[in-house]
Amino acid sequence: MPGHEAVFIDDELWERLIELTSGAATVCYQCGVCTATCPWGEIKQEPLSVRKFMRQAQLGFQDGNESLWLCTTCAQCEAYCPRGVNISDVFRGLRTIAWEQRTTLVGLSSLLWSVYWNNNPWTQPPSQRSGWAKGLDIPAFNPQEHEILLYSGCTASYDRRAQSIARALVVLLQSAGVRFGYLGEDEPCCGEAVLSVGHKPYFLEIAQYTSKLFQERGVTDLVTISPHCYDVFKNHYPASTGSNNIRPHHYTRYLQGLIEDGRLVFDGHFDAQVTFQDPCYLGRHNGEYQAPRKILATIPGVELVEMENHGLEALCCGGGGGRMWLETPAGERFSDLRVEQAAQTRAGYLVTACPFCAVCMEDSAKMKKGTSLQVLDVAEIATLALKNK
Ligand code: SF4
Ligand code: SF4
Repeated sequence: MPGHEAVFIDDELWERLIELTSGAATVCYQCGVCTATCPWGEIKQEPLSVRKFMRQAQLGFQDGNESLWLCTTCAQCEAYCPRGVNISDVFRGLRTIAWEQRTTLVGLSSLLWSVYWNNNPWTQPPSQRSGWAKGLDIPAFNPQEHEILLYSGCTASYDRRAQSIARALVVLLQSAGVRFGYLGEDEPCCGEAVLSVGHKPYFLEIAQYTSKLFQERGVTDLVTISPHCYDVFKNHYPASTGSNNIRPHHYTRYLQGLIEDGRLVFDGHFDAQVTFQDPCYLGRHNGEYQAPRKILATIPGVELVEMENHGLEALCCGGGGGRMWLETPAGERFSDLRVEQAAQTRAGYLVTACPFCAVCMEDSAKMKKGTSLQVLDVAEIATLALKNK
């Protein structure tokens, strides 16, 4: 909102924003706690004025300010907002308006085109989607035979670092004797990247297509690697598709169940001090703080030491809200802050349960001088405690 300049309030836009955000910002009383708690304030000289964007949503205008795209939808501010405003949803709504007014950032169009042409936001060929699973002997999903569908998602399918997480999870499921299948090259993109940059109309199309495909293939229970895929299936598909035909599980909760049922047993050990990064879309967005910690507590030899900010207060890695596809200069990355906190615990491993977190934090750990901190996913560290992996 420009300082003291007059702004044009458009009733139609106001109504559209109310519709897009379910009126989330209407209860905001402009206290500014969100601006004060947003991690951008620790990185940029001028903090992200979250309060200002909430005001725009209340009044019904969008000024094309580039900082609209800084929000990672990490929900840290939401944890402190005294009015319980769904700030992530307000940002997504304002971004939808930006698409409609053609005031988005240039690079974001290629993300949408890649999902359209390639079925993934990583501009990778659809024919390579199942390349990560080569040699793992995963059968095609068959609802008559399989307990679950393994949904690898775009990042674990294509990103070389994240592929290792998918492979580790397969080893764990096989070790526990789980009957599971995979859709291979037919696996559809869940659309989370599209939703996070605010293109709600295209996300709606993707959700309807994907939901229909799952129905045709007889999918009910599916296990995701990324908390972002889990979140859209759980929290955005029912309203977007008008159907509740799938039961998504994040793999950490699923593995916890396998451990409790005595199906997944660690017959080896991995002696290490570790610290845990709560992914925003597992923790704050879905309230799951315990499952990854319970898995770590079961692995013989693993000792967990918590970082200064953990659980509800955990710092974001910086990869959500579409930021994975936007350039963030070195020195302005949330993951740098997080790696610094992890190093202060003196743990040897920074463990997480999200491909975005693993990718962002590994980059920051490599750049940080004077640390031997290694980044692993819960699935990866769990396989290290299996003798026959
Ligand atoms: S913390 Fe909540 S009530 Fe306060 S300005 Fe932000 S959104 Fe509004
Ligand atoms: S969701 Fe996260 S990045 Fe976005 S405004 Fe809130 S604290 Fe800042």
